[in-house]
Amino acid sequence: MEQSVYASVEYPAACQDCGAQLECWGVQALVNGSLRWDVECACRACGFSVAVCGGDLPGELRDRILEEHGTVRFLVEPPAGNVAIMRVLRAELGIDLTEAKAVLGRVLAGDYSGTLPEVELLARRLRAAGIETVSARDQGMSRARSGPTAG
Ligand SMILES: [Zn+2]
Repeated sequence: MEQSVYASVEYPAACQDCGAQLECWGVQALVNGSLRWDVECACRACGFSVAVCGGDLPGELRDRILEEHGTVRFLVEPPAGNVAIMRVLRAELGIDLTEAKAVLGRVLAGDYSGTLPEVELLARRLRAAGIETVSARDQGMSRARSGPTAG
């Protein structure tokens, strides 16, 4: 079983019922090979609570995660097969050939980045296709090799 990857963030919001401060907890996760997200908010003043999930990751939550955890850069190790990479990009991102070429250019230039679960998902798919990848957080400048731990 693949290891799950999470990026979570806590943030305040205003309670829609009483106007007090809501405590919100947002999570994006890579679980069993797919990305999911959910947000839970609770108000201590009036007990209002809400949980939201499903569909595409909301831009606001993605921004918060990137702000909290930093962007993760994504690189392929040369020599990499461009055709194989584009095939994975098209399948995983649901994009056409033209868009895949543009994304490939960013990957090869070391300019493709996203949240940890997003980057990890692509990295795993590429590794499954035989392409070694390296991911590194923009914060800290430490290059962390994200190869498989076994086999
Ligand atoms: Zn409230």
